[in-house]
Amino acid sequence: MTMKDEIQSRRTFAIISHPDAGKTTITEKLLFFGGAIRDAGTVKAKKTGKFATSDWMEIEKQRGISVTSSVMQFDYNGFRVNILDTPGHQDFSEDTYRTLMAVDSAVMMIDAAKGIEPQTIKLFKVCRMRGIPIFTFINKMDRQGKEPLELMEELEEVLGIQSYAMNWPIGMGKEFLGIYDRYNKRIEQFRSEEDRFLPLNEDGELAVEHPMKVSSYYTQAMDDIMLLEEAGNEFDIERINAGELTPVFFGSALTNFGVQTFLETYLQFAPPPQPRNTDDGESVNPVSEEFSGFVFKIQANMNPAHRDRIAFVRIVSGKFDRGMNVTLSRTGKSFKLTQSTQFLADDRETVDEAVAGDIIGLYDTGNYQIGDTIVEGKKPLQYEKLPQFTPELFMKVTAKNVMKSKHFHKGILQLVQEGAIQYYKTLHTEEVILGAVGQLQFEVFEHRMRNEYNVEVRMEPIGSKIARWIENEGDVKESMSSQRSMLVKDRFDNYVFLFENDFAMRWFQDKNENIKLYSLL
Ligand code: GDP
Repeated sequence: MTMKDEIQSRRTFAIISHPDAGKTTITEKLLFFGGAIRDAGTVKAKKTGKFATSDWMEIEKQRGISVTSSVMQFDYNGFRVNILDTPGHQDFSEDTYRTLMAVDSAVMMIDAAKGIEPQTIKLFKVCRMRGIPIFTFINKMDRQGKEPLELMEELEEVLGIQSYAMNWPIGMGKEFLGIYDRYNKRIEQFRSEEDRFLPLNEDGELAVEHPMKVSSYYTQAMDDIMLLEEAGNEFDIERINAGELTPVFFGSALTNFGVQTFLETYLQFAPPPQPRNTDDGESVNPVSEEFSGFVFKIQANMNPAHRDRIAFVRIVSGKFDRGMNVTLSRTGKSFKLTQSTQFLADDRETVDEAVAGDIIGLYDTGNYQIGDTIVEGKKPLQYEKLPQFTPELFMKVTAKNVMKSKHFHKGILQLVQEGAIQYYKTLHTEEVILGAVGQLQFEVFEHRMRNEYNVEVRMEPIGSKIARWIENEGDVKESMSSQRSMLVKDRFDNYVFLFENDFAMRWFQDKNENIKLYSLL
């Protein structure tokens, strides 16, 4: 295969969802189809802690979860699929957001009974901001859930994205008969070994005699589909690629129903590796000769015997060969890439070759920062900065032992640069406040300060806050700071208000109309 064909065969995506929607379950099924795991229980076993986690971070072992996203790769129908895991729940962190910077499309998983939930909204917004295609899988059709039309409406009303139903459920829960596949023009029967696929005639109706034909669920589905044909959106691949229209698939991950059809259809339409812009607005083509990539995540201490970290690099262009010479654009330093690793769930193996679209992990002894660009040869090139995300949780932090102050500040500086946590300080007193999008970031911080910098820290929660930056900083007066609208500085010395809640923010705005507030992503 030529390098171009190799790159064109890549499909790199993440699954975004609220906890419990079924992300782990569908991931297992997908890996299973790809032959990447023998037993579709492996990923779950990892989640519940039964999987060998010998050299994962201590916290991971204790909790049986993966602290940061890992990468799963498999081959299917001539495609090479890379699934980037986006941890949710207590393990939600900035890394979860940043992983979305490294994918070409996203699969949005929704629980049919719950509809669109808060974490899905947050992750959706990040995908939206990037304008990447979003494919929707509405899960758990084997259970009673919301009406399918209602779910389609929710997509438009809550998320503001238009939808196109690729298939449509016939009944649900105990009366789930199957799905009407508009794209493949067939009906896929639920729990039916024989005649799993029933053909449709030219009018889009069942072409064969079948008991289903007389059921009210079939009639209802046909009515709904008629409505969709008349009043729904048209299938439009350009709008899908622009992230304006989401193809919707109904199914049931647990019973493995509709998952394979979803995978096959998804692979047809999901985009191959996309170009990426540099800092100067130049677009770099994935098939260009020169290897380049950027660091989107740094995972610490996967091997507790060493302090080594793994820097995850999304390859943007060209081909990676072990032993190649690259330049780290930020420092201008050149070096040889010798130690690299690729991930399949927990089994790490050495990779010798990878192309644009793939993710490689590089052993890092402290050289990389989030957002760094590495490039073959010496031509300087810097990819667009990764966005900073507005933290929602805050802690005051001090060293338990004041004699350790130097180590304390060094540790914080490095962890902040690495992107593990965000740094703020109070005015004048310069007390350290850390910000995060997820609680786990604080736990990892505490753990790493102890293990890597030998500093015990005292953490004092100050709760969730609404952080807002200021467009017209010159107009800010320190007297505007109060208990409920605390004025602090970020690590670049910019003013930031930490509001206690929405109400405090509105009250502040009423009193100080001239101050223009904005949030990061
Ligand atoms: P995650 O938190 O998104 O990774 O969700 P999991 O994959 O762990 O699933 C959460 C729960 O929903 C588990 O108990 C699954 O067995 C269950 N589940 C997942 N998919 C389905 C489905 O299609 N139907 C039903 N009835 N349950 C499901």
